[in-house]
Amino acid sequence: MAVLDDLSGFEFEDVMEDVFRNLGYENVRQAERTADEGRDVIMEEVVDGQRRAIIVECKHTDTVGRPVVQKLHSAIATFDFEGPKHGMVVTTGRFTNPAQEYATRLQQNDDPHPIELLDGEDLREIADEIGLNLYNGRIEILCDETLRPYDPAADVDGPVEEVFRDIENIEAADLPAPRSEATFRPVVAVTADTNAVFETSVGIIHRINERTRFVVHAERGHPQVADDDVATLVTENLHATVDLDTDRFGEVFDEVEERRFGQTQTEYKEWAVDRLQDFHTTTVTYTGDNNVTYNKTCEPNRSDISVQSIKPVYLPEVRHTTDLKEYTYPYEYYAAGPSRVTAEDGIHRCVHCDRSGVDETFTYCPSCGAIACDSHTKTERLKQEPVCTGCAVTERFALKTKYFYDEDNLEAFREEYTDMPIHEKAMENKLLAGGTVVATLLVVVGLLVIGGVI
Ligand SMILES: [Zn+2]
Ligand SMILES: [Zn+2]
Repeated sequence: MAVLDDLSGFEFEDVMEDVFRNLGYENVRQAERTADEGRDVIMEEVVDGQRRAIIVECKHTDTVGRPVVQKLHSAIATFDFEGPKHGMVVTTGRFTNPAQEYATRLQQNDDPHPIELLDGEDLREIADEIGLNLYNGRIEILCDETLRPYDPAADVDGPVEEVFRDIENIEAADLPAPRSEATFRPVVAVTADTNAVFETSVGIIHRINERTRFVVHAERGHPQVADDDVATLVTENLHATVDLDTDRFGEVFDEVEERRFGQTQTEYKEWAVDRLQDFHTTTVTYTGDNNVTYNKTCEPNRSDISVQSIKPVYLPEVRHTTDLKEYTYPYEYYAAGPSRVTAEDGIHRCVHCDRSGVDETFTYCPSCGAIACDSHTKTERLKQEPVCTGCAVTERFALKTKYFYDEDNLEAFREEYTDMPIHEKAMENKLLAGGTVVATLLVVVGLLVIGGVI
């Protein structure tokens, strides 16, 4: 375990924190470094419904002797925990015979505080088993679980077809198959409890007792908290993950990309604690014994925040692009089986003015492939079909602009127009035609008045 051998003492504890979390222990944390009483990592496990604490002494040394085990044993007795307490000593090296004998005797005597020993060889086995990648002296998160990138009960292109159903003047049958790419993006779902009480001379002024769940985008670079919609998608589907098998998904998608987690679980934990500390910090106003009003900033300590779990998982981001004549339409979403959260919708969007939204009406222009909003969609005068303002050829007839697919249609209509009787020509401009009727009526009325009829 060459990489482990190069670590400093503190880094070894970080590595072990990750290892234990990967093994499924809960509330894994490190003891305050200043008050190190021979317990480095503290964690919990639940056996038959009973929660017990395990105090782990991490020794990054070649050999560990009996005094280390003995010292841990007495430290466990004084460790403050309601419930059973066990101990563990972990080393990158090996244990001396007296150390092993001491631990064995505790087990044999049914000691209430038994101690388990893990040596370098055990650690190597565990690392293999949980797939830890020793990379640049860090344990990167290795995750092979992903939310489903598509609903196996439906077509992969189903979502994009569904969106195109909202677009006027184009049928699903006319759509070319979109190009589909799946990017597996690392996220971590964090569950943390914050428990803090703030007291002054007048008593308790503020109390925090809250469980927080959030989802973090965990690619290289700064961790970023996911939107509520995305967080809900992830947390509600965490039970329905599948193996991230790029070969298998490669048969379904045109392209598959798997991103890496940017930081270790311990780094995400530290980051989450910082964030929650900020989040829960508030200023409380209270009245003192002397009737004076005070403002006090209540900031929970880092030790008031316990990260119960950090669950890494891949969140598939699926991008479909559909080519229609001169235009390409992207549609991108985060997927979890049949559920999805839209990230980019280039289909409900006018190519001419960028107007967008699912409540707007958009119409497909068969002439150029544009999807256009109502104000950029006109009726082709000759065919009486939609055409967009971007590609239409125009000419004014009866003082009104008419739209055509092309010069040929325009020319065909010119001939039609020339042959029209005058009242039909007037109908080419409804407003004008309406005005003409009123004007005609006035003339008739005028004539009748003159004729002495009225
Ligand atoms: Zn428009
Ligand atoms: Zn057009």
